[in-house]
Amino acid sequence: MTEAPSARPFLNLFGRYLREQGLPVTHQREAVAQVVFESEAHLSVDEIERRLRDRGDRIGKATIYRTLDLLVRSRLVEEHDFGEGFKRYEHRLSRQPVHEHLVCLECGKVIEFQAREIAAVEARVQVMHGFLPARHRLEVYGLCRECQEAGVTLPYQGLTCPIDTV
Ligand SMILES: [Zn+2]
Ligand SMILES: [Zn+2]
Repeated sequence: MTEAPSARPFLNLFGRYLREQGLPVTHQREAVAQVVFESEAHLSVDEIERRLRDRGDRIGKATIYRTLDLLVRSRLVEEHDFGEGFKRYEHRLSRQPVHEHLVCLECGKVIEFQAREIAAVEARVQVMHGFLPARHRLEVYGLCRECQEAGVTLPYQGLTCPIDTV
């Protein structure tokens, strides 16, 4: 386990955001925020609930969802939909804020990588289309090294034989 990054400066920022919105800074909101801020992972609501329970905080899913919504709106946390049927949440500010994701279709592992070439792509399309880029999203879906080594193969997707139909 890597040492958990200190959540305090980010909890202070979240507290400021809540006060600016006229919302109270409650223990439950701080506990949910702290779990996300202290993690380097892309956490599901189930994982957040489990980590809260491990710390002795029993907080209902509805409160967790509402708090995550506030965290996303404060721009301290980023929400991801990797097509698993649920969302994942990650702390945006603790590390390199611009990174891309590799998502394993077998085990659900999420690996981060940097692709500085994308800045050049954005600059090019800006000229081509007169479009001003603000942010982008790049997700590569496939199989992680461990799953490949375990013998997992990518399922064939699509029609098995599009011509051979009666
Ligand atoms: Zn995998
Ligand atoms: Zn990430």
